Amino acid sequence: MSFSIPDEFQQYEKKIYDQRQLIEISRALNSTLDYQYLINAVLDICLAQVQTLQAALFLTPDMDAEYLFLIGDTKGFELNRPESDFSIPLDSPLIHFFEEKNRALTFEEVEQSFPDCPSKEILREMGAELVVPMRAKGKIIGVIVLGEKAVGGVYLEGEKSFLVDLASLGGIAVDNARLYERATVDMMTGLKNHAYLQSRLREEREKALRRKTPLAFVLTDVDRFKVFNDTYGHQAGDEVLRAVARVLMQQARPSDTAARYGGEEFCMILPGADAAKAMEIAEAFRTSVEEMVLHHEGKQLRVTVSAGVSLFDPEQDARTSKAMIERADRALYACKNSGRNRVILFDDSLRSV
Ligand code: GH3
Ligand code: MG
Ligand code: MG
Repeated sequence: MSFSIPDEFQQYEKKIYDQRQLIEISRALNSTLDYQYLINAVLDICLAQVQTLQAALFLTPDMDAEYLFLIGDTKGFELNRPESDFSIPLDSPLIHFFEEKNRALTFEEVEQSFPDCPSKEILREMGAELVVPMRAKGKIIGVIVLGEKAVGGVYLEGEKSFLVDLASLGGIAVDNARLYERATVDMMTGLKNHAYLQSRLREEREKALRRKTPLAFVLTDVDRFKVFNDTYGHQAGDEVLRAVARVLMQQARPSDTAARYGGEEFCMILPGADAAKAMEIAEAFRTSVEEMVLHHEGKQLRVTVSAGVSLFDPEQDARTSKAMIERADRALYACKNSGRNRVILFDDSLRSV
């Protein structure tokens, strides 16, 4: 006697499997606030779950954007133009449709339903097969575009609804990551802001204490910047600060944190760095700034920086960051008192200065 599972049961099993997958995916997406990582994760999940070799994401660059832009790192699509050329206006029939209905559309449906939609050509050029809306807080913030299925055939209804659910989860996660980015980054320089710096320094202190690894802090300040502003104007000053910030980011290793401490003061948290390493990084930053020439309204602008370095000391710094920052500040003060454009490592002789 043969026994076969009715189709209905198989469908239910598949549904349960999909739901479990979505819970796992939701957990994974909500465990990070790293924007780039999230985008990659969403696309990788698409590739894995519906067996296509091509996936790409269009996203709004910011809250008041009027277009969705193709994000770099598309998977599998061969584009004959730069990614930045690919955009979809938010005010297009396709996006209006997605605002009304939370469902995926095949390229064929797009062609039939919106014959005059300008976005259609972009999708055709890419070789899109399926377009899935991505929303956050009721607004369309992006679309996932998928190519043809690797195994051939059309996208099944179950796959489409899975992708719509995935895009909803992805949308919330991407939106959260963007809000976090906005709340932790200094708009003018692109460096991490003071609030982020403080929470990161606390985390790094805890890590250094637990793992008994070194940790260094660098506080740096632009030399005679008031005079610079008075001479060249505040706008030139802002440009210099942005350039100094770029140099700081270049010198920072992937695990370091470069932040704007406030005004024309920047800093770096250097996990794992002993005195020699911290001095090497701070010194490289100082010389790079010294060598930098900026051109502003026909003038050549130069600045120098001073930097104070302090090392994590489990005896003094186990509970707060205050003393560690203060020691770097002392060392910075010593730089200012001994001619500027230099780096000094804190030692006890500076305590009374
Ligand atoms: P020192 O070498 O001792 O650091 O001299 P200084 O003139 O740089 O020191 P001070 O701290 O007295 O002055 C800092 C100046 O930095 C004053 C302020 O106008 C300027 N500054 C702070 N934030 C900004 C900013 O965002 N943009 C511009 N253009 N200037 C800023
Ligand atoms: Mg200052
Ligand atoms: Mg200064």
